[in-house]
Amino acid sequence: MSLEEGIERAADLIHRSHHMIAFTGAGESTASGIPDFRSPRSGLWERHNPMLVASIWAFRLNPMTFYNWVRPLADTLLSAKPNPAHSALATLEQMGYLKTIITQNIDNLHQRAGSLRVLELHGHMREATCVRCYNVVPVDPSLEQIIRDGKVPYCKCGGVLKPNVILFGEQLPIRTLNQAMSEARRCDLILVAGSSLEVTPAADIPFLAVKNHARAIIVNLEPTSFDSHADVVLYGNVAEILPQIVEAVSVLRNSEWTPENP
Ligand SMILES: [Zn+2]
Repeated sequence: MSLEEGIERAADLIHRSHHMIAFTGAGESTASGIPDFRSPRSGLWERHNPMLVASIWAFRLNPMTFYNWVRPLADTLLSAKPNPAHSALATLEQMGYLKTIITQNIDNLHQRAGSLRVLELHGHMREATCVRCYNVVPVDPSLEQIIRDGKVPYCKCGGVLKPNVILFGEQLPIRTLNQAMSEARRCDLILVAGSSLEVTPAADIPFLAVKNHARAIIVNLEPTSFDSHADVVLYGNVAEILPQIVEAVSVLRNSEWTPENP
């Protein structure tokens, strides 16, 4: 199947779907300059052992080591902007096709592109939680400044504040995971965008969808273990391919519109 044919087929599946969901991973944000920080190939782990800097055990033992490591990454995350892949999914939601985005990303870029229903399996950086009293505070500009200044942020009670991202060794947020699994069981179409599906249990979600008879589209730079389960497999950059799919969906939609069938 050529890329063009694949895009047409994907658009057709979307146009005929009743409950479409999307599953996004690091590749979705590559065009926004955000490295795949869980991947061993990202380069982020060449000088650091993830278990020593980005695990919950390391955080509890020495939060300064964590904040020293996260500072350049936090800078990148806070200054990143949504790319055409994010906008394409926001448009599909506005058009009424896409019901939910399930993401492995913590960068908030889906919401900033205008997507309303986003389930964040690996948490986010909008809030932080005190490891002592579990008080939740917003990560506002003053807290961002503390992190950028190389200091450890503290709660009023004296406990250390931890951003609400899931560190290595932590469970996924159970409510979000349950909602994602229920969406996977319920959907009739899943679009996997920019995920190599290597990080479980998040990566189990698309497999759960096809097991429950959903059709599937995957757009990723490289082959994945999910490809043989998908109806349409497109290799390439999501920031280039997703807008083309949305364009093709619009064409299908407009060709159907008549005064008798608005
Ligand atoms: Zn506290």
